[in-house]
Order: sequence, then C-alpha cells, then structure tokens
Amino acid sequence: MKIATVLRDDHHTRNVDQELRKLLAQKTECPHIFIEPGGDEKPDMVFSIGGDGTMLEAVHQYGFEPFYVGIHTGHLGFYADWHPDELDDLVEALVNNEPVLAEYPIVSCHIRTKDGQSIEKWTLNEVVIRNATLSSLVVSVCINDAEFENFRGDGLIISSPSGSTAYNKAVDGALLHPSIEAIQVAEIASINNMSYRTINSALVLPKHHHVDLKISNPQIMLGLDREHAVWENVDSITCRVGANKIKFARYKKLTFWGRVRKAFIVGQE
Ligand code: NAP
Repeated sequence: MKIATVLRDDHHTRNVDQELRKLLAQKTECPHIFIEPGGDEKPDMVFSIGGDGTMLEAVHQYGFEPFYVGIHTGHLGFYADWHPDELDDLVEALVNNEPVLAEYPIVSCHIRTKDGQSIEKWTLNEVVIRNATLSSLVVSVCINDAEFENFRGDGLIISSPSGSTAYNKAVDGALLHPSIEAIQVAEIASINNMSYRTINSALVLPKHHHVDLKISNPQIMLGLDREHAVWENVDSITCRVGANKIKFARYKKLTFWGRVRKAFIVGQE
C-alpha cells in the first residue's frame, strides 16, 4: 500500500507522524511505501495529521483517488476522527477491520473571465466571493439560468455539505449532512433596504441545479478552501455539486451530528 502523510507544521504533529510510521512498520505485514510530497507517485491512502485545514490541504494535494484518514493534533475535527493517543487502535483497525467508506460531495466551480478564459476549480469546503476592496460586491444571481436576485453586500459563500459547518455556519447557513448531495448559497452581510433587496436566507440547491453569479466588480477576492487570491476581470462563476467526491475511510463510529454536538455545544468530553 502506498501511503502519504500531510502534516500541520508543528513539532507535535511531526512526532505523531513519526509514531504512526513506526507503528505501521511494526504491526502490519505488508510493506508500506511512504510517498514523499512533490513527487508523481499516487498514494492509496492519505493520513492528514493536524486539523480540518490540514485535510483541506491534503485533498487538494492528492485529489479524488485515495482514501483519507484524519488524525487531529488539536481539537476534534470534522474531517479528523483520531486522537494521537489512539494511534495503536487506528493501526489495529487498519489491519483488522474493513473501513466504512464515506464519500463527501464537493463544490464544482467554473470561472469565466472577460477575456474569454474558462477555468475549472473545485472545493471541499466552499467557494467564497468577496469584493477585493471594502466597497460592496455586486452580483447578479441566476438559478438554473433564470434571474433570481441582484446581490449587493460583503460576499457570497457557496458551500458543500461538509463545508456547511465552516464559514457557512458563521453566516447562519444551515448545517447539511454530507450524505445530502447539495450546495448551499449563503450571504455575507447583504444590503437590504428600499433600494436593494436579496432573499436574505441561505439557499440549498440539489444536485441537478446550478447557480450563476455574474460579477460587476472589476476585481474580486476569491476563496477556494484554503486558497485565497484577488482575481481580475471575472465575468461569471457557476457553481454546482461536483461530479467527484472525496473518499474518507472511517474506522470509528462517529456520527456527523455527534461531531456537530462536540464541536459547537458540549466540547470534547
Ligand atoms: P483558518 O482561518 O486558519 O481556520 C478556520 C477554522 O475553520 C479552523 O478552526 C478550522 O479547523 C475550521 N474548519 C475548516 N474546515 C472546517 C469544516 N469543514 N467544519 C468546521 N470547521 C472547519 O483557515 P484554514 O485552517 O485554512 O481553513 C480554511 C477554512 O476556514 C475555509 O474553508 C473556511 O471555511 C474557514 N473560514 C471560516 C471563517 C469564519 O468562520 N468566519 C472565515 C474564513 C475562513 P482546524 O482548526 O481543525 O483546522
């Protein structure tokens, strides 16, 4: 089995990585090849060691083929099941148990520029569109090619179900179970007065729907999970549920709603 690890950059996380490699070598019979970052080799399994942000980095590095396992070196994550104290149990489970596979939908994002470029991106958490300056973002929103609203405000977040617990939650979007194949469009500080009006509620679009965002601003700040950049001359952005999914290998019974409870209500007991 070819294995890759993606690490948060701290001492504790590097120690956990070393411990995991040692246990895998000791306890498993098949030889593992650890893939070093930056090469062409494709792993079968990727361990993300760090936080949810580390998992975002891992999935953008290795894409849709491998299975992902998350070890959290901070608080319990939405993408990370295992605590560093449980590495023995994790390796035991890898050797003896069949994992439950969880496939999480992504947001597919098609960006068209005014000079005719067409760029495909995808995100596991969300696409964020904000104006590049402090003035309002102005966007004409169409759903399934029909005019819906003219948005004016700070920005829009188009999130996946697993991204719904991240930035989307901070703007009062709904939390969606990752088995629901949908995207959610949520507003950041929309202007609603006698001149401008938006729906001012988060919208959940099913798999066969899409949203087109026609941009008026000459520059926007575009966030694609961890990647943030100023984009010039974006004409429009289309978002829909992506055709691919990210595959997680689950060896533990942790429910999505259990994670939500631990993350936002009771903390880790
Ligand atoms: P960051 O600003 O350093 O951390 C953002 C926080 O979001 C971290 O605590 C991270 O958890 C957590 N997070 C990431 N994905 C999550 C998910 N699916 N559900 C619940 N929490 C999640 O940024 P980062 O580490 O590079 O992560 C990028 C993400 O930050 C973006 O995708 C966006 O969702 C989020 N963000 C949130 C806000 C907000 O809530 N106001 C603003 C900007 C960006 P870990 O500590 O476990 O890594």
